This record gives sequence, C-alpha cells and structure tokens, in this order.
Amino acid sequence: MNFYSLTVSKKRTCSLIIISFMLGILPISANDLRFPAVARSSPISQGQTSYVYLPLIVRSIREIDVACRWSHQPATTTYVTYRWGDRLQTPGTLYRNAFQSSVMDWNSILTKMRLSFSSTGDIELNTYSSQDGRAGVTRLYCDGQLLTSAEVLANIYYESGRTNNSRRAITGHELGHGLGLGHIPEEEGIALMGYNPDSNVYYTPQNLDIGLMNQVYP
Ligand SMILES: [Zn+2]
Repeated sequence: MNFYSLTVSKKRTCSLIIISFMLGILPISANDLRFPAVARSSPISQGQTSYVYLPLIVRSIREIDVACRWSHQPATTTYVTYRWGDRLQTPGTLYRNAFQSSVMDWNSILTKMRLSFSSTGDIELNTYSSQDGRAGVTRLYCDGQLLTSAEVLANIYYESGRTNNSRRAITGHELGHGLGLGHIPEEEGIALMGYNPDSNVYYTPQNLDIGLMNQVYP
C-alpha cells in the first residue's frame, strides 16, 4: 500500500491512499503511478472523404499526485456509480447533503464523466473522525492504471468553523480524487483540486478542474 499526504492549501490537507491489486504483494511507488499522457485525436482533412487522425498529446493543465483513472473511451460518456457508506445512510444529514451537492456539482459541468447512484456503487461516500490534520481521505483501489473502486471520506473531526459551503468544498475535492483526478499545482491558479484561498467561495469545480477532467477523460 502506498500512502502519501500533501498540502492542498494553507488551510486544508487531504491524502490519497492508493491500493493496487495488480502486483499482488508488491506496492506501487508514487513514481510508478504516473499515468500516460492523454492522447487526443485531431481530424486532419485529406481530400473530400478521408480523414487521418493524428494523436496529439494534450497536457495544457498540469497535474500532480496522479494515481489511476476509471476506464474511459474517448468521445463517450463514462458513468461511475456511487453509494452511501454506513455513516451516511440518513438523508438530510450535513455530510450527506454536502456529498449530494458535490455529486451534482461534478455532474453539472460539461465533461464526459458522470456519477450515478447505485446501492452497489463503485465509489463509497462516507465520513470518519480523526485528529489526523486532514480534511479528508480518498482510498483508490487500482488494477494496474485503472480504478476498480474508491472510498471517499470527509473528516468530521474538524467541524468547528465549517459551513455548508466549506463542507461542500471538502467533499467536492475528495470526490474529484474518487473520479481519478490528482492535484492541480497551486501556481496554476484557483481550483477545487488545487489552490483554494477560500472554501466558502470556491466550493464547486472551477475552470481548471473542468479543463483537467476533460483532459483526463477526453
Ligand atoms: Zn487532495
């Protein structure tokens, strides 16, 4: 099991835990987890009827801490299912509401990644409570470079001072990891998956997050 934590912003940290089944007992190191660049095809006109598709490497938005991705076919929409964990069984509770809003947030932007509910969903949404200095934790279960399931957890230990918006920023950030996104370096700008100067203001996917999702899942 590979474990690493990182600073998301001055106020918030989260951690990603990647568990690989592919290599059996051998853990995958962080360097091994770098995902190949996304290849995007661009149609080049060749006369009236035929087209040649040249693969272009599109990496306009930088991404760090990359783990694994959901299986995706370019130009098609990928549906990933989610379910509620044991501590989020009751509708209307604070973090169930926050996660529900974050599901809606990621579903309402123009990308080819969609979340849908299933009682046997591949992403479990849940909470935990620990004085671990983290706002949340996401555990990714990978088979090679592809995600097979994920646990997306918000840490409710640090509840003091949180608002509905800041909870939504936490659940949205962790859910982004559950969808296979890493972090956007702080110098790129404000992002839900990167530098967030005020989670009361920035609690939905920003332009950089949308661009990254489209880069990862073209
Ligand atoms: Zn994170």
